[in-house]
Amino acid sequence: MTSHASNRGVVYQGPGEVTVESIAFPELALGNRRCDHGVILKILTTNICGSDQHMVRGRTTAPQGLVLGHEITGQVIECGRDVEFIHVGDVVSVPFNIACGRCRNCKEGKTGICLNVNPARPGAAYGYVDMGGWVGGQAEYVMVPYADFNLLKFPDADQAMEKIKDLTLLSDIFPTGYHGCVTAGVGPGSVVYIAGAGPVGLAAAASARLLGAACVIVGDMIPDRLAQARSFGCETVDLRQDAKLFDMVEQITGDPEVDAFVDCVGFEAHACGHDHGHEQPATVLNSAMELTRAGGQVGIPGLYVTEDPGAEDTAARHGSLSVRIGLGWAKSHSFHTGQCPVMKYNRQLMQAILFGRAEIAKAVNVQMISLDQAPAGYADFDGGAAKKFVIDPHGAVAA
Ligand code: NAD
Ligand code: ZN
Ligand code: ZN
Repeated sequence: MTSHASNRGVVYQGPGEVTVESIAFPELALGNRRCDHGVILKILTTNICGSDQHMVRGRTTAPQGLVLGHEITGQVIECGRDVEFIHVGDVVSVPFNIACGRCRNCKEGKTGICLNVNPARPGAAYGYVDMGGWVGGQAEYVMVPYADFNLLKFPDADQAMEKIKDLTLLSDIFPTGYHGCVTAGVGPGSVVYIAGAGPVGLAAAASARLLGAACVIVGDMIPDRLAQARSFGCETVDLRQDAKLFDMVEQITGDPEVDAFVDCVGFEAHACGHDHGHEQPATVLNSAMELTRAGGQVGIPGLYVTEDPGAEDTAARHGSLSVRIGLGWAKSHSFHTGQCPVMKYNRQLMQAILFGRAEIAKAVNVQMISLDQAPAGYADFDGGAAKKFVIDPHGAVAA
Protein backbone atom coordinates (compact mmCIF):
# COMPACT_ATOMS: atom_id res chain seq x y z
CA MET A 1 0.00 0.00 0.00
CA THR A 2 1.46 3.36 -0.93
CA SER A 3 1.53 6.27 1.46
CA HIS A 4 -0.37 8.47 -1.00
CA ALA A 5 -3.54 6.39 -0.58
CA SER A 6 -6.27 8.58 0.89
CA ASN A 7 -7.96 8.34 4.27
CA ARG A 8 -10.73 10.25 6.02
CA GLY A 9 -11.61 10.39 9.70
CA VAL A 10 -13.68 12.04 12.42
CA VAL A 11 -11.71 14.88 14.01
CA TYR A 12 -12.31 16.67 17.32
CA GLN A 13 -12.40 20.42 16.70
CA GLY A 14 -13.39 21.74 20.12
CA PRO A 15 -16.32 21.49 22.54
CA GLY A 16 -19.43 20.32 20.69
CA GLU A 17 -17.73 20.07 17.31
CA VAL A 18 -16.46 17.14 15.27
CA THR A 19 -15.86 17.17 11.52
CA VAL A 20 -14.93 14.63 8.87
CA GLU A 21 -11.52 15.47 7.40
CA SER A 22 -8.81 14.07 5.17
CA ILE A 23 -6.21 12.50 7.44
CA ALA A 24 -2.92 10.72 6.82
CA PHE A 25 -3.03 7.18 5.51
CA PRO A 26 -1.68 4.95 8.31
CA GLU A 27 1.86 3.61 8.12
CA LEU A 28 3.57 0.73 9.87
CA ALA A 29 5.59 3.17 11.95
CA LEU A 30 5.66 4.58 15.47
CA GLY A 31 7.28 7.98 15.23
CA ASN A 32 10.73 7.20 13.78
CA ARG A 33 10.55 3.50 14.59
CA ARG A 34 9.21 0.87 12.22
CA CYS A 35 6.22 -1.02 13.55
CA ASP A 36 6.85 -4.47 12.10
CA HIS A 37 4.41 -6.05 14.57
CA GLY A 38 1.51 -3.96 13.24
CA VAL A 39 -1.12 -4.27 10.53
CA ILE A 40 -3.15 -1.80 8.46
CA LEU A 41 -6.90 -2.33 8.55
CA LYS A 42 -9.58 -1.27 6.14
CA ILE A 43 -12.28 -0.39 8.66
CA LEU A 44 -15.61 -2.18 8.20
CA THR A 45 -17.40 -0.71 11.22
CA THR A 46 -16.44 1.78 13.93
CA ASN A 47 -18.73 2.82 16.75
CA ILE A 48 -19.38 6.10 18.55
CA CYS A 49 -19.05 5.68 22.33
CA GLY A 50 -20.12 7.53 25.47
CA SER A 51 -16.40 7.73 26.22
CA ASP A 52 -15.98 9.88 23.08
CA GLN A 53 -18.75 12.15 24.33
CA HIS A 54 -16.74 13.10 27.44
CA MET A 55 -14.15 14.58 25.05
CA VAL A 56 -16.62 16.11 22.61
CA ARG A 57 -18.54 17.77 25.43
CA GLY A 58 -15.27 19.52 26.31
CA ARG A 59 -14.93 17.68 29.63
CA THR A 60 -11.34 16.58 29.06
CA THR A 61 -8.06 18.07 27.87
CA ALA A 62 -8.44 16.44 24.41
CA PRO A 63 -6.46 18.50 21.87
CA GLN A 64 -8.03 20.01 18.75
CA GLY A 65 -7.18 17.79 15.78
CA LEU A 66 -7.46 14.46 17.62
CA VAL A 67 -8.74 11.73 15.28
CA LEU A 68 -11.42 9.96 17.34
CA GLY A 69 -12.52 6.34 17.50
CA HIS A 70 -11.56 3.31 19.60
CA GLU A 71 -14.27 0.77 18.65
CA ILE A 72 -12.87 -0.77 15.47
CA THR A 73 -13.68 -3.82 13.33
CA GLY A 74 -11.87 -4.28 10.03
CA GLN A 75 -10.21 -6.31 7.35
CA VAL A 76 -6.44 -6.66 7.24
CA ILE A 77 -4.92 -5.15 4.08
CA GLU A 78 -1.22 -5.13 5.02
CA CYS A 79 0.86 -6.98 7.61
CA GLY A 80 4.19 -5.91 9.10
CA ARG A 81 7.19 -8.19 8.70
CA ASP A 82 6.91 -9.67 12.21
CA VAL A 83 3.20 -10.49 12.12
CA GLU A 84 2.96 -14.28 12.02
CA PHE A 85 -0.60 -15.45 12.63
CA ILE A 86 -2.81 -12.72 11.19
CA HIS A 87 -3.08 -12.56 7.40
CA VAL A 88 -4.22 -10.17 4.70
CA GLY A 89 -7.98 -10.67 4.24
CA ASP A 90 -8.71 -11.64 7.86
CA VAL A 91 -11.75 -9.90 9.37
CA VAL A 92 -10.90 -8.91 12.91
CA SER A 93 -12.18 -7.20 16.02
CA VAL A 94 -9.79 -4.74 17.66
CA PRO A 95 -9.94 -4.49 21.48
CA PHE A 96 -10.07 -0.78 22.28
CA ASN A 97 -7.20 -1.25 24.76
CA ILE A 98 -3.81 -1.25 23.06
CA ALA A 99 -1.58 -3.83 24.71
CA CYS A 100 1.97 -5.02 24.08
CA GLY A 101 1.49 -8.63 25.23
CA ARG A 102 4.95 -8.54 26.77
CA CYS A 103 4.70 -6.59 30.04
CA ARG A 104 3.84 -7.80 33.52
CA ASN A 105 0.22 -6.58 33.32
CA CYS A 106 -0.42 -8.02 29.85
CA LYS A 107 0.95 -11.36 31.04
CA GLU A 108 -1.61 -11.28 33.86
CA GLY A 109 -4.42 -10.53 31.37
CA LYS A 110 -4.72 -6.91 32.54
CA THR A 111 -4.56 -5.47 29.04
CA GLY A 112 -6.35 -2.25 30.04
CA ILE A 113 -3.24 -1.18 31.96
CA CYS A 114 -0.42 -2.28 29.66
CA LEU A 115 2.85 -0.70 30.78
CA ASN A 116 4.50 -0.21 27.39
CA VAL A 117 2.04 1.62 25.14
CA ASN A 118 1.63 5.01 26.82
CA PRO A 119 4.57 6.93 28.26
CA ALA A 120 2.26 9.01 30.49
CA ARG A 121 0.46 6.25 32.41
CA PRO A 122 -0.53 2.57 32.24
CA GLY A 123 -3.14 1.84 29.57
CA ALA A 124 -3.74 3.08 26.04
CA ALA A 125 -6.51 3.31 23.48
CA TYR A 126 -6.97 4.51 19.89
CA GLY A 127 -8.10 8.11 19.44
CA TYR A 128 -8.37 9.02 23.10
CA VAL A 129 -7.02 11.84 25.28
CA ASP A 130 -4.19 10.80 27.65
CA MET A 131 -4.21 7.33 26.15
CA GLY A 132 -0.86 7.31 24.39
CA GLY A 133 -1.50 9.44 21.31
CA TRP A 134 -2.59 6.57 19.04
CA VAL A 135 -4.53 7.62 15.94
CA GLY A 136 -8.24 6.85 16.19
CA GLY A 137 -10.31 4.58 13.98
CA GLN A 138 -13.49 6.50 13.18
CA ALA A 139 -11.89 6.55 9.77
CA GLU A 140 -11.45 4.52 6.60
CA TYR A 141 -8.10 2.98 7.63
CA VAL A 142 -6.13 2.55 10.84
CA MET A 143 -2.89 0.98 12.08
CA VAL A 144 -3.04 -1.66 14.83
CA PRO A 145 0.22 -2.48 16.66
CA TYR A 146 1.15 -5.84 18.24
CA ALA A 147 -1.38 -7.34 15.86
CA ASP A 148 -0.86 -11.01 16.71
CA PHE A 149 -1.60 -10.23 20.35
CA ASN A 150 -4.35 -7.64 19.99
CA LEU A 151 -6.57 -8.87 17.19
CA LEU A 152 -9.47 -11.30 17.46
CA LYS A 153 -9.90 -13.00 14.09
CA PHE A 154 -13.42 -14.04 13.12
CA PRO A 155 -13.59 -17.66 11.91
CA ASP A 156 -15.23 -16.81 8.58
CA ALA A 157 -15.27 -13.48 6.76
CA ASP A 158 -18.71 -13.97 5.11
CA GLN A 159 -20.34 -15.11 8.34
CA ALA A 160 -18.74 -12.12 10.07
CA MET A 161 -20.35 -9.71 7.59
CA GLU A 162 -23.77 -11.34 8.23
CA LYS A 163 -23.44 -10.74 11.97
CA ILE A 164 -21.42 -7.54 11.77
CA LYS A 165 -23.92 -5.39 13.72
CA ASP A 166 -23.44 -7.69 16.72
CA LEU A 167 -19.74 -8.42 16.23
CA THR A 168 -18.91 -4.71 16.01
CA LEU A 169 -19.83 -4.45 19.70
CA LEU A 170 -16.98 -6.79 20.70
CA SER A 171 -14.39 -4.01 20.46
CA ASP A 172 -15.76 -2.36 23.60
CA ILE A 173 -19.29 -2.22 24.98
CA PHE A 174 -20.30 -5.89 25.01
CA PRO A 175 -17.13 -6.98 26.86
CA THR A 176 -17.32 -3.81 29.00
CA GLY A 177 -20.91 -4.43 30.06
CA TYR A 178 -20.11 -8.09 30.66
CA HIS A 179 -17.00 -7.21 32.71
CA GLY A 180 -19.10 -4.79 34.78
CA CYS A 181 -21.42 -7.69 35.65
CA VAL A 182 -18.65 -10.23 36.26
CA THR A 183 -16.86 -7.83 38.62
CA ALA A 184 -20.18 -7.15 40.37
CA GLY A 185 -20.46 -10.89 40.99
CA VAL A 186 -23.52 -11.46 38.79
CA GLY A 187 -24.46 -15.11 38.39
CA PRO A 188 -27.52 -17.36 38.23
CA GLY A 189 -30.32 -15.94 40.37
CA SER A 190 -28.72 -12.54 41.03
CA VAL A 191 -30.78 -9.42 41.50
CA VAL A 192 -28.83 -6.72 39.67
CA TYR A 193 -29.12 -2.94 39.46
CA ILE A 194 -27.58 -1.25 36.44
CA ALA A 195 -27.09 2.51 36.71
CA GLY A 196 -27.37 4.11 33.25
CA ALA A 197 -29.27 2.93 30.17
CA GLY A 198 -26.79 4.20 27.60
CA PRO A 199 -25.21 1.61 25.30
CA VAL A 200 -22.86 0.38 28.06
CA GLY A 201 -25.73 0.05 30.56
CA LEU A 202 -27.86 -1.80 28.01
CA ALA A 203 -24.92 -4.07 27.15
CA ALA A 204 -24.44 -4.73 30.88
CA ALA A 205 -28.14 -5.51 31.25
CA ALA A 206 -28.02 -7.97 28.33
CA SER A 207 -24.86 -9.48 29.85
CA ALA A 208 -26.52 -9.89 33.25
CA ARG A 209 -29.27 -11.89 31.55
CA LEU A 210 -26.65 -13.98 29.71
CA LEU A 211 -25.00 -14.67 33.10
CA GLY A 212 -28.31 -15.93 34.50
CA ALA A 213 -29.50 -13.00 36.63
CA ALA A 214 -32.99 -13.48 38.04
CA CYS A 215 -33.93 -9.80 37.87
CA VAL A 216 -32.20 -6.93 36.09
CA ILE A 217 -33.26 -3.42 37.05
CA VAL A 218 -32.01 -0.50 34.95
CA GLY A 219 -32.15 3.12 36.14
CA ASP A 220 -31.84 6.30 34.03
CA MET A 221 -33.71 9.56 33.48
CA ILE A 222 -34.22 9.18 29.72
CA PRO A 223 -37.58 7.48 29.00
CA ASP A 224 -36.61 6.15 25.53
CA ARG A 225 -33.53 4.47 26.91
CA LEU A 226 -35.57 2.87 29.71
CA ALA A 227 -38.07 1.63 27.12
CA GLN A 228 -35.16 0.08 25.23
CA ALA A 229 -34.14 -1.79 28.42
CA ARG A 230 -37.71 -3.06 28.87
CA SER A 231 -37.73 -4.29 25.25
CA PHE A 232 -35.53 -7.24 26.22
CA GLY A 233 -36.98 -8.07 29.60
CA CYS A 234 -35.46 -5.66 32.11
CA GLU A 235 -37.29 -3.85 34.88
CA THR A 236 -36.69 -0.10 34.96
CA VAL A 237 -36.75 2.85 37.36
CA ASP A 238 -37.25 6.41 36.12
CA LEU A 239 -34.86 8.54 38.16
CA ARG A 240 -36.68 11.78 37.36
CA GLN A 241 -39.01 10.81 40.22
CA ASP A 242 -38.30 12.15 43.68
CA ALA A 243 -38.68 8.72 45.31
CA LYS A 244 -35.70 7.00 46.98
CA LEU A 245 -33.94 4.48 44.76
CA PHE A 246 -34.20 1.69 47.37
CA ASP A 247 -37.96 2.27 47.65
CA MET A 248 -38.37 2.01 43.89
CA VAL A 249 -36.32 -1.18 43.86
CA GLU A 250 -38.32 -2.61 46.77
CA GLN A 251 -41.51 -2.02 44.82
CA ILE A 252 -40.15 -4.25 42.08
CA THR A 253 -38.49 -7.06 44.05
CA GLY A 254 -39.90 -6.78 47.58
CA ASP A 255 -36.38 -6.07 48.89
CA PRO A 256 -34.66 -2.67 49.19
CA GLU A 257 -31.23 -4.13 48.40
CA VAL A 258 -29.67 -5.84 45.40
CA ASP A 259 -26.94 -8.49 45.10
CA ALA A 260 -24.92 -6.70 42.46
CA PHE A 261 -24.61 -3.09 41.27
CA VAL A 262 -23.04 -1.92 38.00
CA ASP A 263 -22.19 1.77 37.45
CA CYS A 264 -22.53 2.45 33.72
CA VAL A 265 -22.66 6.23 34.15
CA GLY A 266 -19.32 7.60 35.40
CA PHE A 267 -18.26 11.11 36.41
CA GLU A 268 -20.86 13.03 34.40
CA ALA A 269 -23.61 11.54 36.60
CA HIS A 270 -26.69 13.63 37.15
CA ALA A 271 -28.62 14.06 40.37
CA CYS A 272 -31.87 12.09 40.67
CA GLY A 273 -35.35 13.53 41.29
CA HIS A 274 -36.46 17.08 40.50
CA ASP A 275 -32.75 18.12 40.41
CA HIS A 276 -31.97 15.75 37.53
CA GLY A 277 -30.62 18.52 35.30
CA HIS A 278 -27.66 19.03 37.65
CA GLU A 279 -24.44 17.09 37.79
CA GLN A 280 -23.54 15.20 40.94
CA PRO A 281 -20.47 13.15 40.12
CA ALA A 282 -20.52 10.89 43.21
CA THR A 283 -24.23 10.13 43.21
CA VAL A 284 -24.04 6.73 41.52
CA LEU A 285 -21.14 5.56 43.71
CA ASN A 286 -23.06 6.61 46.82
CA SER A 287 -26.24 4.89 45.72
CA ALA A 288 -24.16 1.76 45.02
CA MET A 289 -23.25 1.57 48.68
CA GLU A 290 -26.79 2.28 49.80
CA LEU A 291 -28.45 -0.22 47.48
CA THR A 292 -26.00 -3.14 47.45
CA ARG A 293 -26.48 -5.78 50.14
CA ALA A 294 -23.74 -6.38 52.72
CA GLY A 295 -21.09 -8.55 51.11
CA GLY A 296 -22.20 -7.54 47.60
CA GLN A 297 -19.97 -6.31 44.78
CA VAL A 298 -19.94 -3.14 42.73
CA GLY A 299 -18.64 -3.10 39.14
CA ILE A 300 -17.66 0.37 37.92
CA PRO A 301 -17.09 0.49 34.16
CA GLY A 302 -18.41 4.09 34.12
CA LEU A 303 -15.45 6.40 33.58
CA TYR A 304 -13.94 8.53 36.37
CA VAL A 305 -11.13 10.93 35.48
CA THR A 306 -8.06 12.38 37.17
CA GLU A 307 -8.63 15.83 35.63
CA ASP A 308 -12.04 17.33 34.85
CA PRO A 309 -11.55 21.02 34.04
CA GLY A 310 -15.32 21.45 33.50
CA ALA A 311 -16.40 20.10 36.92
CA GLU A 312 -18.65 22.24 39.13
CA ASP A 313 -16.49 22.05 42.30
CA THR A 314 -12.73 22.40 42.75
CA ALA A 315 -12.08 18.96 44.24
CA ALA A 316 -13.89 17.25 41.36
CA ARG A 317 -11.71 19.17 38.90
CA HIS A 318 -8.92 16.86 40.03
CA GLY A 319 -11.04 13.74 40.27
CA SER A 320 -11.73 13.93 44.03
CA LEU A 321 -15.34 13.04 44.78
CA SER A 322 -17.29 13.04 48.01
CA VAL A 323 -17.86 9.32 48.43
CA ARG A 324 -19.28 7.85 51.65
CA ILE A 325 -16.70 5.07 51.81
CA GLY A 326 -17.56 4.36 55.46
CA LEU A 327 -20.87 2.86 54.40
CA GLY A 328 -19.21 0.65 51.79
CA TRP A 329 -16.68 -0.48 54.39
CA ALA A 330 -19.40 -1.28 56.93
CA LYS A 331 -21.12 -3.47 54.32
CA SER A 332 -17.86 -5.18 53.23
CA HIS A 333 -18.40 -4.10 49.63
CA SER A 334 -15.94 -4.88 46.88
CA PHE A 335 -15.39 -2.28 44.16
CA HIS A 336 -13.90 -2.89 40.75
CA THR A 337 -12.92 0.03 38.52
CA GLY A 338 -10.94 0.67 35.36
CA GLN A 339 -10.88 -0.03 31.65
CA CYS A 340 -12.37 -3.35 30.67
CA PRO A 341 -9.63 -5.79 29.59
CA VAL A 342 -11.55 -6.59 26.40
CA MET A 343 -9.39 -9.53 25.42
CA LYS A 344 -10.46 -11.43 28.52
CA TYR A 345 -13.99 -11.79 27.14
CA ASN A 346 -14.18 -11.03 23.43
CA ARG A 347 -13.64 -14.57 22.13
CA GLN A 348 -16.34 -16.13 24.31
CA LEU A 349 -18.79 -13.33 23.57
CA MET A 350 -18.04 -13.74 19.83
CA GLN A 351 -19.04 -17.40 20.17
CA ALA A 352 -22.23 -16.41 22.00
CA ILE A 353 -23.06 -14.14 19.04
CA LEU A 354 -22.12 -16.63 16.31
CA PHE A 355 -24.14 -19.43 17.93
CA GLY A 356 -27.17 -17.17 18.37
CA ARG A 357 -27.07 -16.88 22.14
CA ALA A 358 -26.61 -13.09 22.35
CA GLU A 359 -28.68 -10.55 20.41
CA ILE A 360 -26.57 -7.65 21.54
CA ALA A 361 -27.14 -5.35 18.52
CA LYS A 362 -30.88 -5.50 19.18
CA ALA A 363 -30.42 -4.84 22.90
CA VAL A 364 -28.43 -1.64 22.34
CA ASN A 365 -30.38 -0.69 19.19
CA VAL A 366 -27.56 -0.41 16.64
CA GLN A 367 -28.08 2.33 14.06
CA MET A 368 -25.79 2.22 11.03
CA ILE A 369 -24.59 5.55 9.58
CA SER A 370 -22.07 6.68 6.97
CA LEU A 371 -18.82 8.45 7.84
CA ASP A 372 -20.30 11.75 6.67
CA GLN A 373 -23.21 11.27 9.07
CA ALA A 374 -20.84 10.95 12.05
CA PRO A 375 -21.21 14.59 13.25
CA ALA A 376 -25.01 14.20 13.23
CA GLY A 377 -24.65 10.84 15.02
CA TYR A 378 -22.59 12.51 17.74
CA ALA A 379 -25.25 15.19 18.15
CA ASP A 380 -28.16 12.71 18.35
CA PHE A 381 -26.27 10.51 20.79
CA ASP A 382 -25.47 13.53 22.96
CA GLY A 383 -29.18 14.36 22.90
CA GLY A 384 -29.92 10.99 24.55
CA ALA A 385 -31.05 8.91 21.56
CA ALA A 386 -31.69 5.30 22.58
CA LYS A 387 -29.30 4.12 19.87
CA LYS A 388 -25.75 2.88 19.44
CA PHE A 389 -24.33 4.62 16.36
CA VAL A 390 -22.11 2.46 14.16
CA ILE A 391 -20.22 4.07 11.29
CA ASP A 392 -19.88 2.14 8.02
CA PRO A 393 -16.97 4.13 6.49
CA HIS A 394 -16.73 2.28 3.16
CA GLY A 395 -20.43 1.48 2.75
CA ALA A 396 -19.38 -2.18 3.12
CA VAL A 397 -22.28 -3.08 5.43
CA ALA A 398 -24.87 -1.12 3.47
CA ALA A 399 -23.74 -3.05 0.35
P1 NAD B 1 -23.92 7.40 27.76
O1 NAD B 1 -23.48 8.77 28.10
O2 NAD B 1 -24.67 7.16 26.51
O3 NAD B 1 -24.80 6.79 28.96
C1 NAD B 1 -24.79 7.26 30.27
C2 NAD B 1 -26.23 7.22 30.77
O4 NAD B 1 -26.25 7.50 32.18
C3 NAD B 1 -27.14 8.27 30.13
O5 NAD B 1 -28.25 7.63 29.54
C4 NAD B 1 -27.55 9.16 31.30
O6 NAD B 1 -28.87 9.68 31.18
C5 NAD B 1 -27.45 8.21 32.47
N1 NAD B 1 -27.31 8.82 33.80
C6 NAD B 1 -26.84 10.04 34.17
N2 NAD B 1 -26.87 10.18 35.50
C7 NAD B 1 -27.41 9.03 36.01
C8 NAD B 1 -27.69 8.56 37.31
N3 NAD B 1 -27.45 9.31 38.40
N4 NAD B 1 -28.21 7.30 37.45
C9 NAD B 1 -28.47 6.53 36.37
N5 NAD B 1 -28.23 6.94 35.09
C10 NAD B 1 -27.69 8.17 34.93
O7 NAD B 1 -22.57 6.52 27.76
P2 NAD B 1 -22.26 4.98 27.44
O8 NAD B 1 -21.72 4.87 26.07
O9 NAD B 1 -23.40 4.12 27.82
O10 NAD B 1 -21.05 4.79 28.47
C11 NAD B 1 -21.29 4.80 29.86
C12 NAD B 1 -20.01 5.04 30.65
O11 NAD B 1 -19.12 3.92 30.45
C13 NAD B 1 -19.21 6.26 30.20
O12 NAD B 1 -18.67 6.89 31.36
C14 NAD B 1 -18.10 5.68 29.38
O13 NAD B 1 -16.96 6.51 29.33
C15 NAD B 1 -17.82 4.42 30.14
N6 NAD B 1 -17.08 3.37 29.43
C16 NAD B 1 -16.15 2.70 30.12
C17 NAD B 1 -15.46 1.66 29.54
C18 NAD B 1 -14.47 0.87 30.34
O14 NAD B 1 -13.65 0.15 29.76
N7 NAD B 1 -14.50 0.93 31.65
C19 NAD B 1 -15.72 1.32 28.21
C20 NAD B 1 -16.72 2.01 27.52
C21 NAD B 1 -17.40 3.03 28.14
ZN1 ZN C 1 -16.00 2.83 23.76
ZN1 ZN D 1 1.74 -4.78 27.97
